[in-house]
Amino acid sequence: MNKKLPKVTKSTHKYIFVIGGVMSGVGKGIATSSIGTVLSAKGFSINLVKVDPYLNVDAGTMNPTEHGEVFVLNNGLETDQDMGNYERFLNRDASDFDYMTSGMIYKDVIEKERALHYGGKCVEAIPHIRDEIVHRFEHAAKQNKSDISIVEIGGTIGDYQNVMFIEAARMLKMKRPADVVFIMVSYLPTPGKLGEMKSRPTQNAARQLASYGVNADFIIARAETPLDHRRKEKIAISCNIPTEHVISAPDIESIYDVPVNFEKDRLAENLMNSLSLPERKTGPDFTEWKKMAKGIKNFAEHPVNIAIVGKYFNTGDFVLTDAYISVLEAIKFSGYANKVKPVIHTVNSRDFEVKSPDYSTLDQYDGIIVPGGFGESGIEGKLNVIRYARENGIPYFGLCYGMQLMTIEYARNVLGLTGAHTAEINPRAKHVIIDIMPDQKKKIAEGNYGGSMRLGRYPAKLGKDTIAHEAYESAGWIKHGSITERHRHRYEVNPEYIKKLEEAGLVFSGKSPDGTLMEIAELPRGEVGAGRENGVNQHPFFLGTQFHPEFLARPLAPHPLFTEFMKAAKGKQKGK
Ligand code: GLN
Repeated sequence: MNKKLPKVTKSTHKYIFVIGGVMSGVGKGIATSSIGTVLSAKGFSINLVKVDPYLNVDAGTMNPTEHGEVFVLNNGLETDQDMGNYERFLNRDASDFDYMTSGMIYKDVIEKERALHYGGKCVEAIPHIRDEIVHRFEHAAKQNKSDISIVEIGGTIGDYQNVMFIEAARMLKMKRPADVVFIMVSYLPTPGKLGEMKSRPTQNAARQLASYGVNADFIIARAETPLDHRRKEKIAISCNIPTEHVISAPDIESIYDVPVNFEKDRLAENLMNSLSLPERKTGPDFTEWKKMAKGIKNFAEHPVNIAIVGKYFNTGDFVLTDAYISVLEAIKFSGYANKVKPVIHTVNSRDFEVKSPDYSTLDQYDGIIVPGGFGESGIEGKLNVIRYARENGIPYFGLCYGMQLMTIEYARNVLGLTGAHTAEINPRAKHVIIDIMPDQKKKIAEGNYGGSMRLGRYPAKLGKDTIAHEAYESAGWIKHGSITERHRHRYEVNPEYIKKLEEAGLVFSGKSPDGTLMEIAELPRGEVGAGRENGVNQHPFFLGTQFHPEFLARPLAPHPLFTEFMKAAKGKQKGK
């Protein structure tokens, strides 16, 4: 290796723009994440940026059934689910400037205009919006102190909405031609009747992109099957790029194989050549990634059945994997950590709201999760499922709403507090077990819903001799005596009921450092029924978190609580 490699400095910062051609939904986010993985394995520090062309200021107000999960960053920014993939593939936290929407940019420019920032000039999309975008790209690079920014431009070539972002990328290329590369993620259909892969739409998309003044330097060719050399050549010639810049990206079983496939086509090396970047030897070891990518598909002979109880399952074409993607991925990583293959079952909570629900269907599951959620629908069904899981020793993991409901269930059925509820649904309930946080009351009264929940990373202290403490400690996640986790909620356990719940055996094993907010609830580990003579309710795993642990789960760093839950699920199976 050449020892005198030029150091990549701020002035030689590189940008890679990823743009979709032909159609949406072909895995541009995964492609972007995977480019990040292979380049970071070469020793470069990467930040991944997502540009969403819609006018929402952030993703927080969007319905997950239509738009997918809302992913929360450390500082509380509510973003698109792609940001979750970015963090998982890079094994690094994103910064606030790594996510932007048209709404965010227009809002900033308009606020600046109101503050006379533009000194009396006429404020226009070109140059002001475009320059604000360029500024944000540059700022994101600076904030992350990265070597390379990889920017995914949402939407597809030909959309009206993303033109301004493509224009900003073009400007950057003009300013620093040697530092900017464009990648088009395209799609090559194989129409059933023809049985032949067609490259024409890709050629047309490249031409359309060229009409914006941007040439694709690389083409990632998504298709059902790998691209043969002939087609690579054909695309290369018609799009004016070397054949090795056409990367084959066939459908595969696991998204974690995408970087492995990109490596086979030497994508990182070719990108480095295009950007005149020398190889470094400081990157994370790619063998660890490869081992994980292979292992995560293993253990089919040890399936563990996990039920996710939600209300979002009967909404037509909606894809469940999008609304709960971080939860599903977190389960996958911890399944792998426990050497089992999680099999996900979606359970519609409304099936447990009928007159006499068939609870025996729940016995087939080795673990039950009630994930985050809002509003009334399906709530009573979820409460019924939680009760069944508690009374029958089925491992239960409640995430945010799932923790609040678990506390309500406990209040209703163990403390006998009939009518116990959350203020979110019935603020006049006889026992408001889950209440609105005081600072949230005002926000709701003012109709201030956007970005106004308790959002982002907050610390919690863990109680000794609890499942939570044991799990976090053995994973080495306790730093300076506390853990920090990402939140997204308006309601919390009502302080007036904490003592009563504790006296009845529910353990609040995680609390905010001042002791006022209940962050984790659990029952002591043991067989159901055991310990009752001492007034203790036990359970193999009955635990809920007010925060969203799924946001911190990474393939190379599974979340300790998910791992503990999967361990209990595996244990239940053994006991069968
Ligand atoms: N609806 C509940 C709250 O606002 C839970 C939110 C969630 O699950 N993310 O507190």
